[in-house]
Amino acid sequence: MVKEERMSRNKLHVKIDDQVYILSGKDAGKTGKIIAAYPAKRRVIVEGVNIATRHVKPRSQHQQGGIIRQEMPVDVSNVMLVCQKCKRPSKVGRKYLENGDKVRYCKSCGATVSVITKGKKG
Ligand SMILES: [Zn+2]
Repeated sequence: MVKEERMSRNKLHVKIDDQVYILSGKDAGKTGKIIAAYPAKRRVIVEGVNIATRHVKPRSQHQQGGIIRQEMPVDVSNVMLVCQKCKRPSKVGRKYLENGDKVRYCKSCGATVSVITKGKKG
């Protein structure tokens, strides 16, 4: 009856400043840094990935025309966190440490990726 909730709603397994590996699409195999995240849409923008080029006409004397290169969002299911310790694209888990901190951790090597919430102690 109760729907399984694997992760709380609107929470992504990656966040801004994470280094991620692209799993699919034209940039599959690349790695880059997340520069924007849209949790509600489950999309992220990764630096240098999924770049769209737009040709822009000058609209005024002060605005130059030209080609704008801009990253487009990719689905968050197409990216994997790159662990800064083992340098591998890794699955991310969540757990509580002994000091009460809730952290994201690398399922490959166990290293803490980042602290989600600080514990009461310390
Ligand atoms: Zn690791």
